[in-house]
Amino acid sequence: MEKLRKRIQRLKEKRPGYGEILEFYLKVREEQEKIKVSSRIKPILLKKEWKDLLTKEGFPLLQREDFPLDIEASVILFQSLCQIGKEANPYMSEHVNKIEEIFDKKRINLKELLKEGLKEKRIGQIADELRLDKKVFLFLIQSSIRPSIEAGVEQLRSELDPETWLKGYCPICGSLPYLSLLKDEVGKRYLLCSFCGYQWRIERLICPFCNNKEQGALQYIYGEGEEAYRIDLCDKCHQYIKTIDLRKLEETDPSLEDLATLHLDILASQKGYKRPVPNPWIT
Ligand SMILES: [Zn+2]
Ligand SMILES: [Zn+2]
Repeated sequence: MEKLRKRIQRLKEKRPGYGEILEFYLKVREEQEKIKVSSRIKPILLKKEWKDLLTKEGFPLLQREDFPLDIEASVILFQSLCQIGKEANPYMSEHVNKIEEIFDKKRINLKELLKEGLKEKRIGQIADELRLDKKVFLFLIQSSIRPSIEAGVEQLRSELDPETWLKGYCPICGSLPYLSLLKDEVGKRYLLCSFCGYQWRIERLICPFCNNKEQGALQYIYGEGEEAYRIDLCDKCHQYIKTIDLRKLEETDPSLEDLATLHLDILASQKGYKRPVPNPWIT
């Protein structure tokens, strides 16, 4: 955490415009870390058939709703994240207040809702029905269960080989990647799961969303003077993924680096490319 704080301080000095969002990020991460220490999840019992399906058919090990959650811890975290949200900015504050009201008036039971995990469709329906901001609502739920999800990934780590999967979706939960990372001296490329945070290897030159490998239909853009960050554009599916070169950075919190380079996302979207998994931190 100390490293993270220092990195945030440095980023804020370099890009003052990001101050508010980086401060918010730090507070959320601090709460998540605090909860992580005391949260407990049930062991995940993998069936042999599931592992066979993974190797033979490429089916992910779990569905998102199969992850065991520490509900008590998630409820506490949800409440502290609401508090942080209310202090973040007027927009967040307004929408978090509305969300809290729904639970205070017992129109929805928070515990029951968290038990369902992250069902985007269902959360979207509730948000529409009760006129809540869907992105803020999703963010609060996803961030509250995240420590449990990460604990689940730790349990499964020894069941998988991150070097041999090579697909465009997560071997653990089947979700799309959120970022791509370059590591080791040779610059091996990895994908980072948008839901569970697992990292697995992929080829250097491939679009993870449509498997396009044609050199002529893949291009990059860099920000000025920012060689650690790159946007990989695919001209087949017109989508992009941000690549962070961890060899060029001391701190290795990819989500933070992603958040501090939103200007590259704007650049890509101006060129007409879409990001399949939007950044959950911006509302
Ligand atoms: Zn995953
Ligand atoms: Zn593509």
